[in-house]
Amino acid sequence: MASLTHTTLALPPKAVTTTTPATTTTLLTALSYSTSTAHLKQVHAQILRSKLDRSNSLLLKLVLASCVISPSLDYALSVFTHVSNPGTLLSNKFLREFSRRASAEKTLLVYEKMRKEGVGVDRFSFPAILKAASKASASFEGMEIHGLASKLGFCSDPFVETGLVRMYAGCGRVMEARLVFDKMSRRDVVAWSIMIDGYCQSGLFDKVFVLYEEMKNSNFEPDGMILSTILSACGRAGNLSYGKAIHDFIIENNVAVDSRLQSSLVAMYASCGSMDLAKKMFSMMSPKNLVVSTAMISGYSKLGQLQDARLIFDQMVEKDLVAWSSMISAYAESDWPQEALRLFNEMQQSGISPDHVTMLSVISACAHLGALDKANWIHIYVDRMGLGCTLSVNNALIDMYAKCGNLGRAREVFEKMPRKNVISWTSMINACAMHGDAFSALSFFNKMKERNVAPNGVTFVGLLYACSHAGLVEEGRKFFASMIGEYNIAPKHEHYGCMVDLFGRANLLREALEIVETMPMAPNVVIWGSLMAACRVYGECELGEFAAKRLLEMEPDHDGALVVLSNIYAKERRWDDVGKVRNLMKNSGIFKERGFSRIELNNEVHEFLMADKRHKHTDEIYDNLSRVVSELKLVGYVPNTSSVLVDLEEEEKKEVVLWHSEKLALSFGLLSKSKDSCIRIVKNLRICEDCHTFMKMSSKVYEREIVARDRTRFHHFKDGLCSCKDFW
Ligand code: ZN
Ligand code: ZN
Repeated sequence: MASLTHTTLALPPKAVTTTTPATTTTLLTALSYSTSTAHLKQVHAQILRSKLDRSNSLLLKLVLASCVISPSLDYALSVFTHVSNPGTLLSNKFLREFSRRASAEKTLLVYEKMRKEGVGVDRFSFPAILKAASKASASFEGMEIHGLASKLGFCSDPFVETGLVRMYAGCGRVMEARLVFDKMSRRDVVAWSIMIDGYCQSGLFDKVFVLYEEMKNSNFEPDGMILSTILSACGRAGNLSYGKAIHDFIIENNVAVDSRLQSSLVAMYASCGSMDLAKKMFSMMSPKNLVVSTAMISGYSKLGQLQDARLIFDQMVEKDLVAWSSMISAYAESDWPQEALRLFNEMQQSGISPDHVTMLSVISACAHLGALDKANWIHIYVDRMGLGCTLSVNNALIDMYAKCGNLGRAREVFEKMPRKNVISWTSMINACAMHGDAFSALSFFNKMKERNVAPNGVTFVGLLYACSHAGLVEEGRKFFASMIGEYNIAPKHEHYGCMVDLFGRANLLREALEIVETMPMAPNVVIWGSLMAACRVYGECELGEFAAKRLLEMEPDHDGALVVLSNIYAKERRWDDVGKVRNLMKNSGIFKERGFSRIELNNEVHEFLMADKRHKHTDEIYDNLSRVVSELKLVGYVPNTSSVLVDLEEEEKKEVVLWHSEKLALSFGLLSKSKDSCIRIVKNLRICEDCHTFMKMSSKVYEREIVARDRTRFHHFKDGLCSCKDFW
């Protein structure tokens, strides 16, 4: 460090005396009265004209004045870089002023300039530089600065040490931060606070709690800042008991609770799902800040209490991107995709632009909704935002297009991706499986293996699903074996469920039962349900009854199981048992999950319930439906009422079946869509047998392609046939 010679003040009074003192004084005065960058530039020009540009006192004043006036600081930086031999004192002063206002990256530029110019650094230079390196997460520069500090012998200076801990923690290198921290001879509360915060930022919450205890044992009193950090760790780790203990500590020790600490307490209770306590404290807060309101929104959403979340959201005077995103994501993750999209529109209108986190929620809402026109629009929007290359966004787009019924577009997104990970491949495999294209699903898996991308558990769910729906029993068996043997993935409920389904659909009921009996965990509702469904298809009454009963033990009001049971009894003419099941259903008020169907038309999503009469074109829809029914009857359609639960007369049952939501949606689609376009319907439940037949026949009679998505898969109806080959 040759520049160490410059550690003395480089402001020679002689430099001033060589020029006319009046001019320097005038210029200094002029600088102190400057209020705009334009004026500063004029003075700067005068300085140059008067050949006073070697006067460091003038230049320092100019640089500092522009630091104060101009928010961009570019001008200050450019003047500074023209100061020759600025000297350590001036540089430190500038560094401090500059780092307070400018971005960390620019502060590091100042440091770089100092080094290039050979300006010496001293112990007062380090805190500002290290703070900048920490903020900019510039670990490479940070380590270089650390090297310089040790070389100059400043490493045992507590300010430099604290700066180093901050720098490493800020760069996410908590191990290195801890090494410096442990070597410190004197630690103050600031150092403890930085180290604890470092662990919290890195998600190492257990270490946060341990270090906090260590700190208390070293007789340091935690301040509000540290307590806030600990509370945030409690919230993120879901550690309610520790959070409560901190709250007790605050009360017992009369810690002054400022608005930040109060926010932290509310946020901790909200994140831990303790909404009553959170609400109580939240209601006492005034004013309520953004962070705490957003924490309340997330807390309520996690518990599915969307109305409470929305109430908080609506009461917020000011909403930032995080608040909007939390509310949108809350709707997207529950059964409110339309509300998520509506809110997204509102957010744009309020002038806030989304980031990729918001867009992931919006894409997922659209996937849930299954609205293809909206999907296309969102894709264009995402591209315009410049997120077209973001991996997570592309993965979500694949899933969105698949769920909106357009496998081709899903594939296009996949092919264009510059980078693909296991999620991308898995999304593509699942997309094919969902559409009954088992062949493509398997071929994507082979390509994935060729590229050395290791599959995960979800990949195998997709593969097994594809096999079971295409009747590829041998392939499914092999995949299941390779998952365990080759890839060392322990099968979960989903995988066993797929295997039961695979065997069940292929009428290999003995093997299906064997899976159920030998699986290492207790079979769940889905697995008993698969077995039951297979038994129903193949008329295996005894086993079906067994499966239905097991299912009902777990979920006594499972409507599907009750229907199967009553059908089995009816087939065997066990009328007493039929009566018992029907009475049970009637008395316990069991009703099916509300079924609804959606159809997208002219960029608007229309939703129908069973026997729904809310639509503004209701009369036309019902008139058209009865016309369609009579036309289909001419080609052999007979309403099949076996899926109807309630105890009705046969004639009434027929009515009910004819008013299923998907039939209403279809009738509306047939009315309004142009002849050559495909009708896309999304149903939230499994499509019933009667509606399935109805759609097959309609596709032939009206020469229209119909794509229907039910709870688990797609049905492509064309020419009187369905892609599921009547097996779903
Ligand atoms: Zn139906
Ligand atoms: Zn089908």
